[in-house]
Amino acid sequence: MKKFLAYLNPVLRLGVRKYSAIFPFTTVLATCILSELFAYGIAKNPNIVGVYIIFVNVAFIIYFSFHDGIIGGFISTTLTILYYFYIIISRHYKGDQFVSGVETTIFLAFLYLVLGTIIGWLKQTIDALIHREADEKRRLQTVVQQLPVGVIITDSKGRIVQTNKQCDAILGVKVPIGFYVGKSNTETTESTPNIYPGNISLAHVITTGRSMVNREYTIQHKSGKKKYLQISATPIHNAAGKIIAAASIITDITQQKEIESRKDDFVNMASHELKTPITSMKIFIDLLMNRVKKNDDEKSMRMLFNIKKQTDKLQGLVNDLLDVSRLQTGKLSFTKEKFNLIHCIQETIEGLQGAANTQKITCSSHSPLQVYADRFRIYQVLTNLITNAMKYSQGKGDIIISASRKDGKAVVSVQDFGIGIAKEQQKKIFDRLYQVTDHRIQTFPGFGMGLYISKEIVKRHKGKIWVESEKNNGATFYFTLPL
Ligand code: ADP
Repeated sequence: MKKFLAYLNPVLRLGVRKYSAIFPFTTVLATCILSELFAYGIAKNPNIVGVYIIFVNVAFIIYFSFHDGIIGGFISTTLTILYYFYIIISRHYKGDQFVSGVETTIFLAFLYLVLGTIIGWLKQTIDALIHREADEKRRLQTVVQQLPVGVIITDSKGRIVQTNKQCDAILGVKVPIGFYVGKSNTETTESTPNIYPGNISLAHVITTGRSMVNREYTIQHKSGKKKYLQISATPIHNAAGKIIAAASIITDITQQKEIESRKDDFVNMASHELKTPITSMKIFIDLLMNRVKKNDDEKSMRMLFNIKKQTDKLQGLVNDLLDVSRLQTGKLSFTKEKFNLIHCIQETIEGLQGAANTQKITCSSHSPLQVYADRFRIYQVLTNLITNAMKYSQGKGDIIISASRKDGKAVVSVQDFGIGIAKEQQKKIFDRLYQVTDHRIQTFPGFGMGLYISKEIVKRHKGKIWVESEKNNGATFYFTLPL
C-alpha cells in the first residue's frame, strides 16, 4: 500500500525516468466510462457531464504529464479529446451547437496538448538533471570506495557522510555514517576506539578552516598490532569560499615505519661498533705522534697530523649518526646545569677560530646570560651553526655571533655572508638528512644531520631555532633558550 501511494505521488517520482502509458490510459478511460455511467445510469441526464468534466480532465492532464512526462500528457489529452467528440456525437448536437462544439473541442485539444507537452517536458528535464547528478555522485562514491587509502568525508558541521572500505580496514572498526566529529561523541568508545585519530584531524579542519598535512598517529588495531597512520585533512570550499565539507585521507605507514626502525637499528649498531675502533685509533695516533716528535721527523709528523684530522672528522660523523639514532629512539639524554652562555660561545669560537683561516669569528655580546641547559649539547649546536657558516661562506666575510636577552629568553644569532638559502628551502633544512640540492651546493661535503640535531637539541630545551636568509645574500641562524 505504501509503495502504491508512493507511486501515485508525482513529487516522490522526481528523478525516476520510467514513464508509463498504461497508467494514464486506464485511469482517464475509466473516468470517462464512469462519468457516462453516472450521466445515463444515475443522474439520467446526459448533459450533466458538461462543464465539470472539463475541470476533471484538465486536472488529469496536469497530473499525468507531471507523473509520466510527455507520454502521460499526450495520452490523457488524446483520450479527453476523443471523449469530447464522443459527447458531441452521442448527444446529437446539431447546427450551430455542433459547429461550436467541434470548434471548442479543437481549441481545447490544442490547449491541452501544449499544456501536457510543456509540463511533461519540464518533468523529463528535471528527471534528467537529477539522474545526472545522482550518476555523478555514484561515480564519485565509486572512486572514493576504490581509492587505495582510507577516506572520511564530513559535511560542514562535521557529520560523517562517507567513508570507504580501506578506512574501515586501516582503523579496524566500521566508521559510523552520521557520527559527528569534534562534538561530544567524538570521544573514543569501546566499539570505536580507533576513529579518534581520523576525527581529530577533521574536527581541527572544521573548527580552524585550515588543512592538516601528514600528521602521524599510532593506534591499537583490533588484530592486537600497533599501527602507524599518516593523516591529512582539508576543508572543501564552495565557489563563495564557504566550507561545505571536509575530507581526510588515512594512510597506513606501519610497514614503512618498520623498515625505518630496522634501518635506525642498523645505523645505531654500526655507529656503536665504529666508535670503539676510532677511539683506539686516536690513542695510537697520539702515541705515534709522541714518538715521531722525539725523532724530529717533520714529514711523518705532517702525515700523522693529517691522519688525526681525518680521524676526528670520522669520529664527528659517527657521533652525529649516534645522536640522530638516539633522537629517533628518544634516548638522547641531557644533563642540565646553570652556566653563562657567553662563556660557552667564547669557548666555541676559540675552538673553531683555528680552522677558519682568514675568516674572523666575532662575538659582540659580553654581558653574562645565565641559562639552564646541557652545556655540551649547546656547545654542539653552536659548533654546528658556526662550522656551517664557515662552510657555506667559503671564506667570504666574517662570522658574527651575538647573544641577547629578549622576552625572558636568551637569543643567539650566527650570521654569515655566504651563499644563503632560498625561502622554499628554509624550513626543510632542519629535517633529518636534508641537504639543499643545487648544483653549486652539492659540492659541499655533509650529510644533512647537523641542523636536524641542533633543532632537536634546542626543541628539547623548550627553545626555538630558525633562519633568516636570502639566496646569495648570507644567512643568519637564530636559536632561543629559556633563561
Ligand atoms: P650539512 O652536513 O649538509 O651541512 P646541515 O644539517 O648542517 O647538513 O645543513 C643542511 C643544509 O642546510 C645544508 O646542506 C645546506 O644546504 C644548508 N645550510 C646550512 N647552513 C647554511 C648556511 N649557513 N648557509 C647556507 N646554507 C646552509
